[in-house]
Amino acid sequence: MVLEGKTAIVTGGSRGIGRAIALAFAQNGANVAILYAGNEEAAKEVCSQAMAFGVKAESYRCDVSDFAKTGEVVKEVIEAFGGVDILVNNAGIVRDSLVLSMKEEDFDAVISTNLKGAFNLIKHTYSHFMRKRSGRIINISSVSGLMGNAGQANYSAAKAGIVGLTKTVAKELAARGVTCNAIAPGFIETDMTGALSDKVKDAANGMIPMKKMGSPEDIAQTALFLASEGARYITGEVIKVDGGLYI
Ligand code: NDP
Repeated sequence: MVLEGKTAIVTGGSRGIGRAIALAFAQNGANVAILYAGNEEAAKEVCSQAMAFGVKAESYRCDVSDFAKTGEVVKEVIEAFGGVDILVNNAGIVRDSLVLSMKEEDFDAVISTNLKGAFNLIKHTYSHFMRKRSGRIINISSVSGLMGNAGQANYSAAKAGIVGLTKTVAKELAARGVTCNAIAPGFIETDMTGALSDKVKDAANGMIPMKKMGSPEDIAQTALFLASEGARYITGEVIKVDGGLYI
């Protein structure tokens, strides 16, 4: 129970990696507030699974790209849970295509959700963490943000932006006892990668030294470590969890 009595906000907690993080945190004693875009049924299901571990869990429909709405929801969570100790910026989307055919709105949508969304949540929890003189911020980046990936100019730019945001926030808040780190997953089996064709999946598996995609739990265990007391002296770090893809 390494997170006993803590409260975590997990964006995109209704499915995939965010769901696994919310459940791993709940299993380890943390109350969880999960934010989702529209999939209410999935969000409620994650909450009831989390509550089975004996913690408090609530879901909030909240588009992370909406600055005002994220502010309202953070306030609601702080009131309902009595504070926040951990923020996981996980919500993300893809709108892949080569730059040649990428539409302006697809570039903007991915930057707004994947990068500005993280800024919005950090902005609205920042003074709360400062006042508490403690807090853990965990941002989900991607190896695409470290290596680039043909067909993902919008996504890679957003995920590289997450790295800059992470390191900057880490420097700003370190003296206040707040850590800020990123996890860069490789290919992880979720709805996001489920949409890829078998041909693309086979090619991806071929590129991964471990020859298989990771599971959402692989990312959740890393997030759990970063949120735990054992990671108190780690900040501004980007941890790759990718089966060796980046090597
Ligand atoms: P999924 O597509 O499985 O789930 C996405 C989650 O984000 C859902 O909970 C969804 O909510 C939520 N979401 C999407 N848009 C918004 C929004 N505007 N506001 C609030 N919530 C939103 O994705 P994954 O679990 O695969 O990915 C999670 C994170 O990990 C993303 O940031 C992704 O970029 C990153 N990542 C994933 C990799 C992979 O291989 N899967 C590899 C590297 C990084 P709802 O259910 O309501 O739609």
